[in-house]
This record gives sequence, C-alpha cells and structure tokens, in this order.
Amino acid sequence: MTGFLNDGLARNFLAGSWVEGDGGAVIAVEDPGLEEHMADCAQAGEASLARALDAARASVDRGDLADMNPHARARMMQRIATEIRALAEEGAPLLCRESGKALSAARDEFEEAAAYFEYYGGMADKLEGKSIPLGPDYADYTLLEPYGVSAQIVPWNFPVSIAARSLAPSMAAGNATIIKSPELDPIGLAMLGRALERAEVPAGAVSILNGIGFDLGARLVASSEIDQIVFTGSVPTGQAILHAAAETVTPSLMELGGKSAALVFEDADLDTFVASLQSGIFYNAGQVCSAMARVLVHRSIYEAVVERAAALANGLSVGHGLDEPDHTPLASSLQLTSVAELTSTARQDGARVAAGGAPLDRKGHFMAPTILADVNPASRVAQEEIFGPVACFTPFDTEAEAIAMANGTDFGLVAGLFTKDLARSHRVARRLRAGQVFVNEWFAGGISTPFGGVGKSGFGREKGLEALQNYVRTKNIAISLKG
Ligand code: NAD
Repeated sequence: MTGFLNDGLARNFLAGSWVEGDGGAVIAVEDPGLEEHMADCAQAGEASLARALDAARASVDRGDLADMNPHARARMMQRIATEIRALAEEGAPLLCRESGKALSAARDEFEEAAAYFEYYGGMADKLEGKSIPLGPDYADYTLLEPYGVSAQIVPWNFPVSIAARSLAPSMAAGNATIIKSPELDPIGLAMLGRALERAEVPAGAVSILNGIGFDLGARLVASSEIDQIVFTGSVPTGQAILHAAAETVTPSLMELGGKSAALVFEDADLDTFVASLQSGIFYNAGQVCSAMARVLVHRSIYEAVVERAAALANGLSVGHGLDEPDHTPLASSLQLTSVAELTSTARQDGARVAAGGAPLDRKGHFMAPTILADVNPASRVAQEEIFGPVACFTPFDTEAEAIAMANGTDFGLVAGLFTKDLARSHRVARRLRAGQVFVNEWFAGGISTPFGGVGKSGFGREKGLEALQNYVRTKNIAISLKG
C-alpha cells in the first residue's frame, strides 16, 4: 500500500503529529465488499486522550483559533477545503473500500466536506454580536464566544462529511476540537487530518483519535476537560452520552436516528417518486439516518406503486463499491445480521415481501434491496430503525390518516411528500413532525439548509447558518458610563 497508508496503518492525528496506538494497539479495518482485512488503524487509549485534551486546552488558552484574526481564520478554512479536494483522489478509494460505499459516494463525501469548510469559513468573520440600548448611562453589547473544547463523536455511515459538518462550524466559531473517529471506517476521516496538517492548522486545535466507542468515546464525553459534546449516531449511544453529560453539565448536540416517512398522494408524479425512492432507501445501502424508511401511499395507487418499487429493487445492479454498482454492501457482518433479523420479523407481523427480504448469497455483507408491503404501522419494522436497504409500504385513505401514521413513531428526523397540489404541500409539510420536510424530491436541500431532529431523533441543528448557534455562547457585557 502506498501514499497515506504507506505501511498499512492509519495513525491518530494528535496535536499536529501522527501517532501510533497506546501500547501499539490497533483496530483492524475490513473491506466489507470482499470480507477481507484492508488495513489497521492505530487505537488511541487513555494516554493519547489525555494528551489530546491537554493540547486542546492549551490551544484554547493560547487563543489559537478564537483570537486569530477572523479573516485569517476564514482563509485558513478555505485552504482546508482546497486540501480536502486535493486529497479526494487518494482518499475516496480508501473510503470506498473501508465503508463499502460506491466510489462516487465516497467522492461526494470529500466534496461535501470541502464545501462545509468553504461555507463555514465564509462565516468565520461574520459572527456578530449586537448592542442593546439601555439608555445614555450604559453601553451594552453581546459577544458570541466559542465554548472552548468541543468533543465530537462521528458515526461510520458518512465519516468524512459528517465530521466536516461539525468540525467546520466549530472551527469557524473558534473552538478547539477533538474528534473520535468511527471504528469501522476511520481511514477517510484520518485523511481529513492530513488536510488540516497541510493547511497549517495550529497544533492542538484539532485532534482526530481512533478508538472504540464504549472505551475512548465514553472517556472523552465523560471528561471534565471538555466544554461541549457533539454526537451523531444511534439513540442508545446518544442516551448514554446524555447521562455522562448530565454529570458534568456539558451542553450537547444530538443528531440521532430516524424512521422517516414519504407520503405519496394520488396525484403524485410516479417517475419522480421512484427516482427519489432509489436515492432515498438504496443510496449507501440504506445506511442513512434520513433514509426513506417508510412509504405511505394513497390506496387508489398503492398496488401500482408497490409494483414499481419492487421492479426498481429487483433491477438494481449489485457489486463492490469500486465497480460503481447501484447497490453496495452493508458496512459490517454485524450490521447485516441486525438488518436481516429485523427484516425477518416483518412476515410474522403480517407484511408481504414484494422484493428481497434476506441477505444475498454472495461474498460481502450484502442485504437484498427490499420492499415490504402491507406493513402494519405498529409492527417492529415500521417503528424501529432498520438502517439498511429496506422500505416499508403501507396504504392510507385520507390525508389526516397519512399524517398521523407519518408522525406515529418515536423519531422525527425528516419526512417528505409527493403531490402536485401546492396547497396540500404547504398544509401537510407544516403538520409533519420532522426537522426537514422534502416535497417532490427526497434529500432536497444541502449544506446550507438546517438539519436535525425532534423526538428521539435528537435536538439542535447542523448545517446552515443555524448550526453556528450550537458552537458559540452569548456573553453580555454591560458598562456603566455614569462615573
Ligand atoms: P453508534 O451510536 O453505534 O456509534 C456512533 C459513534 O458513537 C461511533 O463513533 C461509536 O464508536 C461511538 N460510541 C459508541 N458508544 C459510545 C459511548 N458509550 N460513548 C461515546 N461514544 C460512543 O451509531 P452508528 O452505528 O455508528 O451510526 C448509525 C446511527 O447513527 C443510526 O442510528 C443513524 O440514524 C445515526 N445517524 C444520525 C445522523 C444524523 O445526522 N441525525 C447521521 C448519521 C447517522
């Protein structure tokens, strides 16, 4: 192996240096499309974490980012974007192989990561406070100050772009940041460290550590040396982190799971819907928090829609991510077992398997693209996050029934509707319990549109200008002019 992984080991990016694991410990990284060992990553433990925390605190105390001229901070972030783009050619195939995703999807991640640094870099010199009129005897103004040390825990489904989604606004606001990479696919994210290094980000202002969630991750979020937690991942882990945060009263941002529903009305353009279904549930093999996990269809077109969905699922090409197929493997054997087991409960609960339904009989952790029809809204597959290429279809008769069903889970990340009726779009969108609503195109929007959940999908917002509010706190300064 040459280039970034010249000796097959992805190291920790710790306070500006590349360091091996504590005691030489490593985590093996697998190519899930081949079920083969691909590389190792150096596993950080308690000692590395202590060094990263000390370095981050020292960076905050020196004011490395917070006191940097805001124009210079903005320029440094634009440079990070340039370096990420320059590294994409080498990094995307590595990310493709460690995660299983298509090469184009891996490239998209690097591009999106670069775009986050451009977007939030552009805001680094525009974080303005305000002056508050208290009459002639006072001068009063607010400052938007960084928290200090931001601890960020990243999931494996989009490790590079999700890390950039939180790191870029964190840096724009002037925080030092420690990222814990996901153990399944840490290599692409380690390359983000290379971009930071090339852009000459002050040592200690950002560290990226590889480690196991319940060990390194749990230690990081429980540390009294951090000032903020940003977590993206599953609900149970989010709950565990919130318990730890309660002990130290550390402000937290939670971007958790989803069970999002698309509502397909009788006047929907079905070609548009089917195109959205493909990206909505089969992109990244359905391992997307905002996937189109449920599809609620007006009864008058229900059978026709299920038939088209099944034809789509059965017609997808399957293969290794490097070969750019429509459908790629799941990230691990554990993930395949979990998706297959939950999907297998559907039949007992009265659902009809219109396509797929089980793992594919081939090398790699492949789940068949699956369409479940006649899904009972109260059943497990309709209520629990499957996090795989499995869409659950249920008919409805009235708009009110569709809205009640869409809102009828513990989650509330995104939702969508397909209709040509403009008035209905606005009316239904307002009543859907979700942080984002798509009309006639799943995943519409982008890095500038605020994203986040309600209910068990979490709280706080990432993306857009809104996200910056999560990385600063307001200080009010009141000065008496009387004396
Ligand atoms: P996960 O909760 O298992 O792991 C997420 C991260 O948390 C990993 O880095 C893991 O090592 C770490 N972790 C695990 N236990 C920990 C602990 N006790 N303390 C601190 N860190 C710990 O989630 P996952 O399987 O990696 O990701 C899939 C989940 O993430 C899905 O539920 C998905 O919906 C959600 N997700 C949400 C968003 C969003 O923006 N809302 C985006 C992507 C993924």
